[in-house]
Formats: sequence, C-alpha cells, structure tokens
Amino acid sequence: MLDGVAIAAEIKSEVAQQVAAARQAGYTPGLAVVLVGENPASQIYVRSKVKTTAELGIYSEMHTPAASITTEELLALVESLNARDEIDGILIQLPLPAHVNTERLLEAVDPRKDVDGFHPINAGRLLSGAPMETVLAPCTPAGIMEILQRSSIPISGARAVVLGRSNIVGKPVASMLINASATVTVCHSRTRDLASITREADILVAAIGRAGFVTAEMVRPGATVVDVGINRLTGEAEFSRFFPPEHPDHLRRKEGFAKRGSTVIGDVDPAAYAIAGAYTPVPGGVGALTIAMLMSNTVKAARLRRSHTAGRG
Ligand code: NAP
Repeated sequence: MLDGVAIAAEIKSEVAQQVAAARQAGYTPGLAVVLVGENPASQIYVRSKVKTTAELGIYSEMHTPAASITTEELLALVESLNARDEIDGILIQLPLPAHVNTERLLEAVDPRKDVDGFHPINAGRLLSGAPMETVLAPCTPAGIMEILQRSSIPISGARAVVLGRSNIVGKPVASMLINASATVTVCHSRTRDLASITREADILVAAIGRAGFVTAEMVRPGATVVDVGINRLTGEAEFSRFFPPEHPDHLRRKEGFAKRGSTVIGDVDPAAYAIAGAYTPVPGGVGALTIAMLMSNTVKAARLRRSHTAGRG
C-alpha cells in the first residue's frame, strides 16, 4: 500500500522548511483563496487549505463573496490580487455558480500566481515538457507523480495507462508521465475493449469517477494501481459487494457506513488490490496529497516570481 498520508506529511514538512528559508530571505509566501457562495463541500475544502497554510507558516487570506457576485466583479477581485506583491498564489475554489464565466476568470489569474495550474499558459508549459521545478502544475496529478517517485516506482520506459481525460487529472497526469519517459495510453468513455488496454499497464491511473469500476481482471499482476476516484457509496447492496465480510476493512467500514449512511470508495474495486504490486488506497492515497501540493505550489510561485523579477532587474 502506498501511504499518501505519510508522503503528504513529508512534503508538508519540506514546504515548512522552505517557508522558513523564505522568511529568512525577507518574504513570506502568501495565498489568497476565493470562495464564492456557500457550497458546503467547498467550504470544507477551503477551511482545510487555510488551516494548512497556518501550520506551515504561509500567509493566507480568504475572500468570500456572495453567490450573486457577477463575473465582472470577480474579475476586478482577481485583478486586485494579481497586483499585490504579498500575494503569491490565487486559488479560485471550483465549482463557481452557473452564471459566472469560469474560463474567463481562470484565464484572468496571473499565470505566475496560478497555484492550481489551470491557466492555459501553465498547461502549455507542462505539455511542452518544461522542467517540473519551473512549472505550476495541477495539484492532484503532481501529487500522483510524487507518490510514484517517492515510492521508487520505475516510470522511465514503463507502460502507463490513464483512465480519464479531464483537464484537471487525466490529461495533465498523462503529460507528466510522458515527460518522465513512460509510454502512455489515455482511455475514456469511448475507448473500445478497455480491459485489454488496462491489462498492459505497468502503471494504471484511474480517474473516471465510477465506484469500483476497475476490477481485478483489468489489472496486470504486479502493476502499480493509482486510484484517483472519490465516490460515495450509499446502497447496502453496493456496500456488501465491495466490502464483504471477508474484506480486511469490513468491520471499520461497516461501522462508518451505519453511522453516516455512506462510505468513500475509489474507481478501483478493493478486490483488485491483491493483484497489484502496489496501490494507493481510498481514502488515504492520492487525495491526501492535493493540499500538500497546493502548499508546495504556493512556495514555488513565490520563489519563481521573485527570481523572475530579479532576472529582469
Ligand atoms: P471528470 O471530469 O468527470 O472526467 C472523467 C473522465 O473519465 C472523462 O474523461 C470520461 O470520459 C472518463 N470516463 C467516465 N466513465 C468512463 C468509463 N466507463 N470508461 C472509461 N472512461 C470513463 O472527472 P475528474 O475531475 O477527472 O475526476 C475523476 C475522479 O477523480 C472523480 O472521482 C473525482 O472525484 C476524483 N478527483 C479526486 C481528486 C483528489 O484526490 N484530490 C482531485 C480531482 C478529482 P469522456 O471524456 O469520454 O467523458
């Protein structure tokens, strides 16, 4: 089992050291978080992001406009954050209300402060193979690469199969794997004979949002399986299918299920873990890395922007 929580803790402790060094050098990395409206899930995510900045010594501030805010007003807010020197990272928590033009807003963020790595300039730099230490790359795919690299999973020359082609996970992780010299196949909902492709993978990344979709028959024995999915199981029948009494985690899961009426599962059927050489669990795998990578990107953005300014001076 590849322990995402332990790897995230390692990264956060490195980031805390980098923050201390930045402070010694005379600046404090700063993150501005924009949370529009009152989406409860977004509020939870944002709260834990802000809490982590405080733990690591990063300055942070929250902007919480009402859901009725217009695109123009949000653009003005982003412009004001772009202009402030003490703000190194700008995070716009998604999803935004339907009337807001998300694309215009994400493109308005100064690419040097785009700690989510969603700006087309940063996506393009990643695609063109710029060195990772100079790119603000999306946090979840960057976290996947950290898990693989820190666990010494061979990537160069490996056959990697990515399930999912979203802009936030599938496509960027495929780019990162190509840049790390894997041979990459990207699959999606129109892919024919998916199982024959996934069975070729040395590294299988599942990012499709379908509970337990990847079964043991789809995994090559010994493969590394990276499960990005976060799905909520609410049905008794589904629960019993994925967590039968003989499942090692059955009792703990059952207790949580009884209490909350749901349990979280990835895109991989836990029965496939036995076939894999290594796997990331859900929860406690890839999901644990996302905030750590956001913190890492904030410190990276602060460093890169100052070195660019120095270069120009
Ligand atoms: P998304 O935007 O909905 O994209 C899903 C992708 O999966 C699409 O490319 C889709 O194909 C493909 N797909 C759907 N059903 C499929 C099937 N039956 N066979 C093959 N491909 C299929 O999802 P996302 O934002 O990338 O997220 C994927 C999962 O990762 C979700 O469970 C999400 O909650 C989770 N996630 C976790 C983190 C984290 O750990 N921090 C971060 C982000 C996302 P088409 O393009 O053909 O429709």
